[in-house]
Amino acid sequence: MTTSERIDTDVVVVGSGMGGGTTAWALAKKGVKVLIVERGGRIAKEDENWSPSEVFIKGRYKNSEEWLDLNDKPFQPGVHYYVGGNTKLYGAALPRFSESDFEETKHLEGISPAWPFTYKQFEPYYCKAEELYRVHGPSEDQYGAKKSKPFPFPAMENEPYVAELAARLKKAGVNPHGNSMGIDFGAGGKCIRCKTCDGFICKIDSKSDAEVNAVNPALATGNATLMTHTKVTRVVLDAAGKKVDHLLAEKDGKEIKIYAKKYVLSLGAVNTAALLLRSGVANSSDQVGRNYMMHVNSHLAAIDFRRKNTDNFQKTISFTDWYLDGGKGYPLGTFQMIGKVQGIMMKSYATKVPLFILNFMAKYSVECLIMNEDFPDPNNRVTITPSGQIKLARVPNSMKTHLELLKRVKGLLHKIGYIAVFRQPFNIAMNAHQCGTLKAGNDPKTSVVDQYCKSHDHDNLYLIDGGFFPSSAAMNPALTIAAQAIRVVEESDLANV
Ligand SMILES: Cc1cc2nc3c(=O)[nH]c(=O)nc-3n(C[C@H](O)[C@H](O)[C@H](O)COP(=O)(O)OP(=O)(O)OC[C@H]3O[C@@H](n4cnc5c(N)ncnc54)[C@H](O)[C@@H]3O)c2cc1C
Repeated sequence: MTTSERIDTDVVVVGSGMGGGTTAWALAKKGVKVLIVERGGRIAKEDENWSPSEVFIKGRYKNSEEWLDLNDKPFQPGVHYYVGGNTKLYGAALPRFSESDFEETKHLEGISPAWPFTYKQFEPYYCKAEELYRVHGPSEDQYGAKKSKPFPFPAMENEPYVAELAARLKKAGVNPHGNSMGIDFGAGGKCIRCKTCDGFICKIDSKSDAEVNAVNPALATGNATLMTHTKVTRVVLDAAGKKVDHLLAEKDGKEIKIYAKKYVLSLGAVNTAALLLRSGVANSSDQVGRNYMMHVNSHLAAIDFRRKNTDNFQKTISFTDWYLDGGKGYPLGTFQMIGKVQGIMMKSYATKVPLFILNFMAKYSVECLIMNEDFPDPNNRVTITPSGQIKLARVPNSMKTHLELLKRVKGLLHKIGYIAVFRQPFNIAMNAHQCGTLKAGNDPKTSVVDQYCKSHDHDNLYLIDGGFFPSSAAMNPALTIAAQAIRVVEESDLANV
């Protein structure tokens, strides 16, 4: 490593994904000088952005290092190092959590703990995040997520297959409703309703992601600067160990020291915890890296050879009838449509089935996600091996609930005519919804950050990404991360520099 360069700024935000990008946007809009430090670069706009074989078979955009699982088996995690972070590939489903997700809730297999703030306190920031990420959604409130303002845009219309599916589901006894989608769709919008949204990169920037909707607008204010291909490697404290003194980073083989008045770490739930553990920082509670959650998820593909699925953009409905109570006094989870899966994409897991069969099946299939909450467990955790590698130990702790949800959904799908339902359960590598490693709480002995994501241990350190979640809810996490980033900037002393 060559000699070190020194950089000084007011606030440094490490990571430009949902947490970091949104924090930087909110700070820059307030007039605060902010430096965004991102280990990746900008993703090129190229034809491969929309190529299922490049994205799903060849893994063109996967660029993370290997981590180890519970049994020390290496795997490549679902994290992506780019400007915009994981939101560059995400599915842009941006639902709120429900009011009860912020309260202590009894489940079949555990207790989902309360958050250090209420839904009511948080709700105005959901409205702001929905504006920033251009969320389309239904006019009626769903699953106890009461809105003080309507969604900024109406729910996306269903294409014919999904419209008919929604009618069949309703007849069978559940109540499908529009998905909350962050898409630049409608009058003047760029979205063309293609098949290459969920899991792909949007070549025409019409998916609301952290690069397009937060980082670029932050840079446009003139208050933010972006430094790419710069990996932060260590957090260094002052002599008293009370405050962060500077960050060490690497760029083009050079060491950089970054000095700021306030430090925001938004590397994603696992990587922020890993950086803190490697640095020996913010962990007087011994909670850093613990309580790792990622939901219990399965993708389902349902086939009915009497119905051809010609829809392009099928991710327009969910049903949440069993979200608050599955009928036995405890919550079950969510059913959500996902982007249309093409035959070649099925090949990534159905490796032995010939492609022509998968292509044929994909013409008659429809795909969805079923998702339920997992619970914070101190033994489900991130640690660092002696050689410096990330180890992610996790035993799913709400499988009974998941299997009950699966049984109900399968029964329903069969009832409405599907002859076969195939399941792909998520494994440790499919950890897109990672959260919980930097638990927020009021007690410094049992939590890592306070309700504003400020470290209990270090006054000038904020940890703003999925890590702060005290519980995972059973909804996609990104909107809640964005809303919290805006709330922290507006209500805490982060912007006072
Ligand atoms: C395929 C896929 C589909 C998804 N679909 C949805 C969905 O539909 N809805 C939803 O709500 N969520 C979805 N998610 C999850 C969503 O993307 C994440 O919840 C969200 O991006 C997490 O935000 P974050 O700020 O915690 O981390 P990220 O967005 O991952 O950002 C972390 C950033 O930190 C950077 N970084 C990491 N280490 C360093 C370092 N050492 N130095 C400098 N920079 C660093 C990374 O490069 C990255 O830019 C999906 C994710 C994937 C992968």
